[in-house]
Amino acid sequence: MHNLSKLAGFILENHLEEYAERYAAEAKAAKVPLLRFFEHLSEKEFANMIRESVRKFLTELKEGRALEAAAESRKNWEEDKLPGFSKKQIKPSDLVLIYTAQKFALYDFIPRFTRDVDLAMQITKELAQFHGEIQNEALKILFKIQKEIEAELEEKNIQLEQAQLLAHIGSWEYIPDTKKISWSKEMFRIYGLEPREGTIEPQEILQYINPEEQESISRSWQEALSKKHSLRQEYSITNGRGEKRIIETHSFPIYENDHLVKVYGTSQDITDIREAEIERQISLQKDEFMSIASHELKTPLTSVKAYIDLMDEILRNGSISQADFGKYIHKAKDNILKLHSLIADLLDISKIHSGKLKLNIEKLNLGEIISNCVETVNHISSKHVIKISGPSDIIIEADKHRMEQVVMNFLTNAIKYSPNQNHISIHVTDTNSKVTVSVKDQGIGIHPSNHHKIFQRFFRINEHVNKFTGLGIGLYISKEIIERHNGKVWVESEEEKGSEFFFQIPKKHTQKS
Ligand code: ADP
Repeated sequence: MHNLSKLAGFILENHLEEYAERYAAEAKAAKVPLLRFFEHLSEKEFANMIRESVRKFLTELKEGRALEAAAESRKNWEEDKLPGFSKKQIKPSDLVLIYTAQKFALYDFIPRFTRDVDLAMQITKELAQFHGEIQNEALKILFKIQKEIEAELEEKNIQLEQAQLLAHIGSWEYIPDTKKISWSKEMFRIYGLEPREGTIEPQEILQYINPEEQESISRSWQEALSKKHSLRQEYSITNGRGEKRIIETHSFPIYENDHLVKVYGTSQDITDIREAEIERQISLQKDEFMSIASHELKTPLTSVKAYIDLMDEILRNGSISQADFGKYIHKAKDNILKLHSLIADLLDISKIHSGKLKLNIEKLNLGEIISNCVETVNHISSKHVIKISGPSDIIIEADKHRMEQVVMNFLTNAIKYSPNQNHISIHVTDTNSKVTVSVKDQGIGIHPSNHHKIFQRFFRINEHVNKFTGLGIGLYISKEIIERHNGKVWVESEEEKGSEFFFQIPKKHTQKS
């Protein structure tokens, strides 16, 4: 390296500025990516930095210490003591480009150093050998570092995958420009599919989502994107194995200059969580139900006992008119009927639960059933005026007792939940193969958020609990009965304005397979 040291000495003494400039220009032309870490420096600071590093390099070269100095800086890479950036940010290509830039800057100075062609050739050879040596060494170490980093990343990926597996959380990325989605392995598991490489079309995912929810999912997704909001969605899917699962998804859109470049997100299978919540809620409601049920059973039983005691006492004293006696018997009977209907409801619940709610299907006149129910209800409450409209002669195939039960449930609820109003109307609609019956009151009404819940077992609206007695099972039983008749129940209601409860069944009964 004798001649190369002399060349370095020559540049140091005569052309330091020029060489530094030359070196920086070469590095820039070669687009050394590492230079971006010095972007924060002003032009002057950058020029000073280059000049200093060039001076150091040339001094080391001049003194024949360049290889040791290179070893020193390699140690810095290994220990991650690099100024302004970390070893993870350096790539082999960066190093090759730096050395190339140095080499070209030095080549540029050879003709200025000597006109002796042999000497110039000699220096060129030394230079090539010198750069070859440090480049090879440096690259070896760099590849080693890169391997370590890859192993670290691999480890992190495995950890991430395991975490995703445990929490059932998958991650995904959507690129709007290509309209393609990439999924983590856990996403495939959530959708009951074999993990595979590559991207997925949104259409493929949509086919697993419950058809009834697809439109609202797309709508809220479009809305969030147009407002640049992140988004939380919960929806059900039937996965690749045919299982129903509930999924919660969080989406985060990324914009660059107002252009949507990416949406990334997470999806979690929350089926177990939702089921556990429902179980917990049912168990709480069950406890509450038990205490209300015992109270509801005890009240009529206490009355029955009181009337029997009274009659017993009067009989022993021998002073009672037949009319009074009849009155007490009537009251005791009323309470026994109440008890009977409560116990029947409780039995129905357990029958529904064990799938033993049997229907006794016969041909019957729906109009007659309705007017019988109205008559019975008129006995209980003479305050309410009940009007019936629509065709009165409709023959259907249904279970008579069960149909009465549903109409009675709708009617008694209409009376119970409209204490300050007295108009109730029943309307019958005959539409070819189906018949619809509605019971409308002008009572306290139901908030839309509760429209679905009131058909659940043991559910009672919080605000109603203290004002009205009840067990929260009547509508549940009605819904089950109607569904067993292949029909449906629903409610239209607004708070303070009243409610209208509907059931619709096919006129001809078909046994469900
Ligand atoms: P219960 O009336 O015994 O509590 P139901 O199953 O018949 O049980 O009704 C469930 C809940 O639905 C009631 O607790 C009440 O909050 C609400 N509800 C039912 N019918 C009406 C109605 N006509 N108007 C207002 N709320 C009603």
